Amino acid sequence: MKTLYFITGSQDLYGEETLAQAQKDGNEMAAFLNNALSGMVAVKTTPIVRCADEAVDICTQATADRECVGVILWMHTFSPAKMWIRALQALQKPMVHLHTQYNEKLPYDTIDMDFMNLNQSAHGDREFGFICTRLGIAREVIAGYYRNENVIAQLRRFAEAALAVDYSKHLRVAMFGNNMRDVAVTDGDRVESEIRFGWNVNYYGIGDLTELIAAVTESETDTKMAEYAERYTIATDDIAAVREQAEYEVALEKFLTREHIGAFTDTFQDLHGLRQLPGISVQNLMAKGVGFGPEGDYKTAALGAVLSQMAKHRGGATGFMEDYTYDLTAGSELELAAHMLEVSPVFAANKPLIQVHPLGIGGKEAPARLVFDGVAGDGIAVSLVDLGDRFRLVCAKIQLVAQPAPMPNLPVARLMWKLIPDFATGTAAWIYAGGAHHAVVSTALGVEDIRLFAKLTDTELVVIDESTTLHTFEQQLALLDLTAKLKG
Ligand code: MN
Repeated sequence: MKTLYFITGSQDLYGEETLAQAQKDGNEMAAFLNNALSGMVAVKTTPIVRCADEAVDICTQATADRECVGVILWMHTFSPAKMWIRALQALQKPMVHLHTQYNEKLPYDTIDMDFMNLNQSAHGDREFGFICTRLGIAREVIAGYYRNENVIAQLRRFAEAALAVDYSKHLRVAMFGNNMRDVAVTDGDRVESEIRFGWNVNYYGIGDLTELIAAVTESETDTKMAEYAERYTIATDDIAAVREQAEYEVALEKFLTREHIGAFTDTFQDLHGLRQLPGISVQNLMAKGVGFGPEGDYKTAALGAVLSQMAKHRGGATGFMEDYTYDLTAGSELELAAHMLEVSPVFAANKPLIQVHPLGIGGKEAPARLVFDGVAGDGIAVSLVDLGDRFRLVCAKIQLVAQPAPMPNLPVARLMWKLIPDFATGTAAWIYAGGAHHAVVSTALGVEDIRLFAKLTDTELVVIDESTTLHTFEQQLALLDLTAKLKG
């Protein structure tokens, strides 16, 4: 089980009795939070920190512990912050500074100086916060009584982000082929991706996959076909085309397991030895949380895997989408998002149909794919772009809607959404920000989750939401460019 260390800060001025009480209080708080976050992450009690060496010890231990995904830090008493300098320099795990108290209410009848000395996080947490700011430590500050529902909800969000960052640091991504020829936004600095996000992105020949496909047995294909029949409605007579995709999926699963891969890309320009572009095979894998990016888009593939992990403990859908076409009726503009084939069935509003249709490009046989209408509800679209000197996350709030009319001739799965705050502002802001035509869409995650991920990975983020105005947004972009240049 992955863990969060619960670290209580103090100092050695108060005597054994007070420190023992502080430790007891800290243990009780950690136990409560362990219960509140159960099923997601374990909250581990640690010895109270009284001096610089103890602070270094616990922070280096947290950093070295592979099961530890982050730390919750708070100061029960005053804790002079110079004692935290070396510890914070050593800490390489996401940190939440929980500004809280053991007691909810003040004991007005009995409060005395002993009580004040023991319970002074109002004082100690400010001192601790100063040194974090002075050292430039990225951290989340959550304030409030630790048993408060709202505080627990924020801690759960932090835990989900910390788990996602931990997953990200160990994510291996396979690219079958390179990115689509001449396309700019799907390209990027893979070394920097590994430095910043931990993504180990490697090229594989499509032959590595076709070898595995050739070795798939009839009975393995039968088992996969049974899975399709259970999940989806087979709406084609061309069973051979569907079996072809089933073989791809069996082979891909073996490949992903063998190479410890969590996300992958393919490209229609490099399908040597495949008769079809992978369709339902990829769609079904995406529904299992595997990240996917078409046209060699490794950034979207990896981001999709990471955000799927972040959303694992929630309802809702998370997966790759592509901006395709619009209904530009004035005042009720809608976007239609889809792809050639690869839309995750987690977005399906109805039971997906397995259909076989030819593709206009690529020169391959007609591929089997899942076709469905998309869900409605609040969501976000998140794009990761490489600006040369840095990565930028673009996160836009969107409102997914039911398609206004049937589209009987559209042979792919699709989602429709309204831009926020309105079509012109939402799209123009996205384009000014350099957001891609590929994104990870989620109805499970919100802007706050992406903000946390950006903070914990030190990645630039721009948000497009109800408050966005183009004038201010462009000014923000100009400031971010300036900031990046100053950082050098
Ligand atoms: Mn595309």
